Amino acid sequence: MTDIGLPTTSARALTRVERVGAHSHVRGLGLDDALDAKKSSQGLVGQVKARKAAGVIANMIRDGTIAGRGVLIAGAPGTGKTAIAHGMAKTLGEETPFASMAASEIFSMEMSKTEALTQAFRKAIGVRIKEETEIIEGEVVEIEIDKPVGALASARAKTGKLTMKTSDMETVYDLGTKMIDAISKAKVNAGDVINIDKASGRITKIGRSFSRSRDYDAMGATTKFVACPEGELQKRKEVVHTVSLHEIDVINSRTQGFLALFAGDTGEIRAEIREQIDNKVSEWKEEGKADIIPGVLFIDEVHMLDIECFSFLNRALENELAPILVVATNRGITKIRGTEFRSPHGIPIDLLDRLLIIHTQAYDEREMKAILEIRCEEEDVDLADDAKDLLCKIACETSLRYAIQLISAASLRASKRKSAKVDVDDVSKVYGMFLDVKRSTQFMLDYHQDYMF
Ligand code: ATP
Repeated sequence: MTDIGLPTTSARALTRVERVGAHSHVRGLGLDDALDAKKSSQGLVGQVKARKAAGVIANMIRDGTIAGRGVLIAGAPGTGKTAIAHGMAKTLGEETPFASMAASEIFSMEMSKTEALTQAFRKAIGVRIKEETEIIEGEVVEIEIDKPVGALASARAKTGKLTMKTSDMETVYDLGTKMIDAISKAKVNAGDVINIDKASGRITKIGRSFSRSRDYDAMGATTKFVACPEGELQKRKEVVHTVSLHEIDVINSRTQGFLALFAGDTGEIRAEIREQIDNKVSEWKEEGKADIIPGVLFIDEVHMLDIECFSFLNRALENELAPILVVATNRGITKIRGTEFRSPHGIPIDLLDRLLIIHTQAYDEREMKAILEIRCEEEDVDLADDAKDLLCKIACETSLRYAIQLISAASLRASKRKSAKVDVDDVSKVYGMFLDVKRSTQFMLDYHQDYMF
């Protein structure tokens, strides 16, 4: 492989689209400068010890003083383990890669468990690419080449001469005066987009576009350069962008291609491709063109992993490039999947021993109410005071997650009767309509004889 291609910023924007989801109200860990958790801040309420611990770890990640370590967030269902992991991701910011998965996902993928985990690890390792871009004064001619020539390619134009370089600085496309001749023969004006057939050297004018200083699309069918045949180079500016190792893997995987990035269906990636990429990335690192940023891999429901996966994690954490592993579970002492042995959280003792453990606690009524209020605001639902009290009572007697789910159902009922405010009757109606776990279990006990065995 000579050209290791990279995804563009727009591709990353697409893969990062976020829906309004269960944790969309979480905007950070809500800590002050001393890393103490404010009672309610950035969408998080209470759980002050766990939030502070998560903040300390986030700081260590940012300072680069922790790598290849693991954190376990353990606690009863609905106590905010996933919310805290999301808060950590937000605190670390876009620059730190954060990959998140539920352990059960690895059993449903059409690839081996270790491949699924390897992909997850590589999604959490970022490569920050530094690139020098040139700002060219005056009018520009935008040139398209029918084949990608490498992500760090640069185009340079100096009085009548155009030179293009690929990322590895080995291939120099010096189109020289021949090119300038061709441009003038094709009557190309500044701002025209032209297509160069590299085999024949034929230039076709394909339209006009806005002048841009520089652009490239290393993944697509075309690579665009901006050049100015008669312009002078004015300034050089360093631009930096971050991609994950997994994104580089997918783009350079011949069988998959970059479209797999959008479909999320990447299949298995060959070991030799990963090896070539790792070598290339370390070359870039040595040449000062790239930095490697170990990010965070969050695995929810970690007790669903089996003994093979746990032994993979043990080994993977020792790798020089390993991200920080954050896992969460609501299980107590339980069987380690794939064995007859029981252990705390269903995690083997040798892996547990490597993890910093954070516990979450049950919420009191005031905290539940505050969380419900935040969710109402997030879902743009106006709840009457007595409806709020009822919802809070429901949360205390059933579960916080169940009560949160009733918000949108109650709001639908209110809008059906053309009211902008959800009242106590709306909440009580949807409470009767949808069973919580306790009532559903009771129902099964009462009527189990009517069901199939
Ligand atoms: P499980 O063990 O069942 O996976 P969990 O501990 O991961 O549960 P979450 O999914 O984080 O629990 O919490 C349930 C819901 O309550 C989510 O919508 C979450 O965003 C919200 N939530 C939980 N704790 C807090 C909190 N301290 N502040 C704000 N929102 C919270």
